[in-house]
Amino acid sequence: MVKICCIGAGYVGGPTMAVIALKCPSIEVVVVDISKSRIAAWNSDKLPIYEPGLDEVVKKCRGKNLFFSTEVEKHVYEADIVFVSVNTPTKTRGLGAGKAADLTYWENAARMIADVSKSDKIVVEKSTVPVKTAEAIEKIMTHNAKGIKFQILSNPEFLAEGTAIQDLFNPDRVLIGGRETPEGEKAIQTLKNVYSQWIPEGKILTTNLWSAELSKLAANAFLAQRISSVNALSSLCEATGANVNQVSYAVGTDTRIGPKFLNASVGFGGSCFQKDILNLVYICECNGLPEVAEYWKQVIKINDYQKSRFVNRVVASMFNTVSNKKIAILGFAFKKDTGDTRETPAIDVCKGLLGDKARVSIFDPQVTEDQIQRDLWMNKFDWDHPIHLQPTSTPSNEKNVSVVWDAYEATKDADGVCILTEWDEFKKLDYQKIYDNMRKPAFVFDGRNVVDCDKLREIGFIVYSIGKPLDP
Ligand code: NAD
Repeated sequence: MVKICCIGAGYVGGPTMAVIALKCPSIEVVVVDISKSRIAAWNSDKLPIYEPGLDEVVKKCRGKNLFFSTEVEKHVYEADIVFVSVNTPTKTRGLGAGKAADLTYWENAARMIADVSKSDKIVVEKSTVPVKTAEAIEKIMTHNAKGIKFQILSNPEFLAEGTAIQDLFNPDRVLIGGRETPEGEKAIQTLKNVYSQWIPEGKILTTNLWSAELSKLAANAFLAQRISSVNALSSLCEATGANVNQVSYAVGTDTRIGPKFLNASVGFGGSCFQKDILNLVYICECNGLPEVAEYWKQVIKINDYQKSRFVNRVVASMFNTVSNKKIAILGFAFKKDTGDTRETPAIDVCKGLLGDKARVSIFDPQVTEDQIQRDLWMNKFDWDHPIHLQPTSTPSNEKNVSVVWDAYEATKDADGVCILTEWDEFKKLDYQKIYDNMRKPAFVFDGRNVVDCDKLREIGFIVYSIGKPLDP
């Protein structure tokens, strides 16, 4: 029986390995993590992450050929293939701070694998890493190996949170990069054999290591760039009377462009887009390509602009002050169908409103109060002027933040409502009831274009929706 061990039981490691276990009953899969609480949650009825369909997959395999454990070294020692899916956040100090990827977790994992291994192994980069990381990993591992051989493969993950299980069941492609040597090709074939249990041959792409590593950064940069492009257009729509939905549709019907990822919003979030673009920017700078670095920086600058533009619109609409006004925040996760709040635009929007002394009442169906309070107390990292992350000096003033478990509670006696996540349930709310319980005039600021503006205006709301014509 082939044994797989995955280091890192996070948003990627957990779902990816659960699907491998489901699709490959003859493979034993152990997901290990240094976080005891995370592993305990994976072994419980309340999994540590919310992802549609994940519970069912885990329930089917856990205890059969899928295991979660904190015994990291033991399972690495026993494995034939070791996936490394640890976090690779943006560095916060030292050389490259604010842009470069922090590979500390990866390096620790690589040293540990080399240290405990007594047989040849395939080591798979599942985390998103800078191009050329495999070279560094090879160096670390071969210098520490005790007469055994490691083949490093790059197998970046393209799943999107919120649709992870369906993305893993039916990916657009699986990418495997390896060394162009007989050993490298053999390792690629071994990993291909795993994926080919459920993925058609034609969807499994093989490349050299550097192409695979760079493709992941490039894919995220392209996706984020589309969002920034449509968001940049949304401001022009508002200024001219064009409707961003109509513009996106008209643009996206061109088959060269395509309709996906063209929704205007309050901005992109999540743990990957900004981090990976910053990483790309840093790599360009290190390779003497400042103009290319500048090009990709704009994607982030427009994203920041979109968030501050939204806050300014809220404040300006509410007679230039939100001081002591109650503003309901519907949605805190960075997108629907996930409880993940990493880099969510809601953080910047809430901080902006709190900075103007608003009181915010937050509801998200999947985000806990602890998460929200922690997020609001962290300083935003300024990558042009890197400083160490520390509690914000103008804190979100806990008194002005309440987290509630119902949209109607959040909006009760509120002056305004900001919709920041496109949860389906926000489309079905009883907006008449919400209007009746709000202070007047009652404002709705739709940062995700989920509500029917005309209906809300009929009820009596003053409505702002990103990229749409303003209230008549
Ligand atoms: P995560 O923070 O949810 O999980 C990483 C886990 O690794 C943590 O639980 C941490 O405790 C564990 N870990 C760190 N060092 C360890 C060690 N030495 N031994 C054992 N466990 C260790 O991160 P994530 O969202 O799963 O992302 C992981 C990687 O995948 C990142 O590089 C990310 O960029 C990439 N990625 C993420 C997504 C996504 O949607 N989240 C999608 C594609 C790729």
